[in-house]
Amino acid sequence: MPKIVIQEPAPVLRRKSEKFEKIGSREAKKLVFKMLETMKEKRGVGIAAPQINEGVQAIIVDTADGPLALYNPKLLKTSKKKESGEEGCLSVAGVYGIVPRFTSVEVEAQNEKAEIVRIKAEGFFARVLQHEIDHINGVLFIDRATKITEGKKILDEIENKAAKPIL
Ligand SMILES: [Zn+2]
Repeated sequence: MPKIVIQEPAPVLRRKSEKFEKIGSREAKKLVFKMLETMKEKRGVGIAAPQINEGVQAIIVDTADGPLALYNPKLLKTSKKKESGEEGCLSVAGVYGIVPRFTSVEVEAQNEKAEIVRIKAEGFFARVLQHEIDHINGVLFIDRATKITEGKKILDEIENKAAKPIL
């Protein structure tokens, strides 16, 4: 079955997701499975639950050891230094931009056994974590981009659509 990624503008992408309380349940396994399948099909390196229309705090990030599912993640510590790099997003298809991100972060989250884990990340891995944690807080990379490198026209269309009242 083709996987659908929610596209901006969409309310589910713009609100803070709810804390995920059902870690370890069948529902959690189904959610992670669906996120993983969608991420793989669309060749993403990370995905957040709102992108498949689930307003809960769950993310998946690709790592050297395989995909890592995290629930209720938050940034615990960040470096002072930021580094600019190019990003895109499955929910803002066709748009790329330069986004400053902390060069290193420490993230606290729950794993699939509901244990509290702390993850130290640098460079690209830190960037992906910040991008996905932004998603569960209703923030998209286009909000933080200092420059749009590709897809300006698409972005204009998104902004037009978002500005039109639906009555
Ligand atoms: Zn994204």
